[in-house]
Amino acid sequence: MASVTVQQVRKKYGALEVIRGIDVAIPDGEFVVLVGPSGCGKSTLLRMIAGLEAITDGTISIGDAVVNAVPPKDRDIAMVFQNYALYPHMTVRENMGFSLKLRKADKSEIDERVATAAGILGLGQLLDRYPKQLSGGQRQRVAMGRAIVRNPQVFLFDEPLSNLDAKLRVQMRTEIKALHQQLKTTSIYVTHDQIEAMTMADRIVVMHDGIVEQIGSPLELYDTPANLFVAGFIGSPAINLISGRLRRDNGHAWVATEAGIDLPLGANAAGQDGQAVVYGIRPEHMAPGSQGGLPVTVGVVEPTGANTFVYATLAGAQVCGVFAERSGYAPGAAMHFVPQLDRVHLFDAASGQRLVV
Ligand code: ADP
Ligand code: MG
Repeated sequence: MASVTVQQVRKKYGALEVIRGIDVAIPDGEFVVLVGPSGCGKSTLLRMIAGLEAITDGTISIGDAVVNAVPPKDRDIAMVFQNYALYPHMTVRENMGFSLKLRKADKSEIDERVATAAGILGLGQLLDRYPKQLSGGQRQRVAMGRAIVRNPQVFLFDEPLSNLDAKLRVQMRTEIKALHQQLKTTSIYVTHDQIEAMTMADRIVVMHDGIVEQIGSPLELYDTPANLFVAGFIGSPAINLISGRLRRDNGHAWVATEAGIDLPLGANAAGQDGQAVVYGIRPEHMAPGSQGGLPVTVGVVEPTGANTFVYATLAGAQVCGVFAERSGYAPGAAMHFVPQLDRVHLFDAASGQRLVV
């Protein structure tokens, strides 16, 4: 196992810079998820760590060694792709053992490592099948098995669950996390799905447009997003964001919206009187009420069983509340969404940065 260090890495395709100076330090044994919208540079960064893509500037180290000029096969990494990339004419056993065979390992060692990986992944009964005789989930497991057999310093995953149905995705993400708890191999996992990132990662790297917006544990990102991008990206349904001006008077603070609605703040809120701000409150951090908070008109009501999503309008803007209470929301009726004041986020409207006291 080894640490992975990315320092001031850049990537240009012609004149277009798609990775614009990224720093990430991943300690030995950590499970890190790179998350961000499609096209933000996740796969490019992962492929540069794998050595499949040259870097334009900066350094990438695995352990203590700078690997900028080291070819992929000598980096001691194993990569799992979205499309699995299994060899159709080889059995599961042959697929899993192929990289060791290329390295001229003994047959007994190959058999032993394939058997161990098959045991871990529950593939023991399938070793003599061909890929076309497997379900999507089983193929995904074989792709993982092929990586495990190599016992690499680092696992790299690029959206490995995207081809699976929703239920299997949830099951496989739990399996991959359990696998990491067992093997403790340094892992870098790419996904565009923030729920996958939140549930699997020790630490998340939020990327956007070729840069890193924030690095932190899942709950750090959820509780203290550094800027509007991270606030909006993490959490589902998304955080409510409402523009206004911060007001202070007599020890009280609130955000005055253009529509004339005052949004409540705690007494210790950050920011200057008159500052243009964005008020952020997550749907699950409000309670339904008959006064105070956000005066809304109820639109669509979605019961999920566990709780109820209430979509509403606040002076024309869309807001959402997620409530444990199952009833009391009539479409078209007026009600109030009452925020927990210690859960309100404030961002500077101009820079998008979080305001801290
Ligand atoms: P992600 O994996 O986050 O969806 P990618 O890393 O695949 O994003 O792509 C990042 C950006 O780089 C995108 O704008 C993409 O169009 C561009 N890109 C990727 N590969 C190439 C290439 N070989 N040539 C030119 N542009 C590329
Ligand atoms: Mg990608």
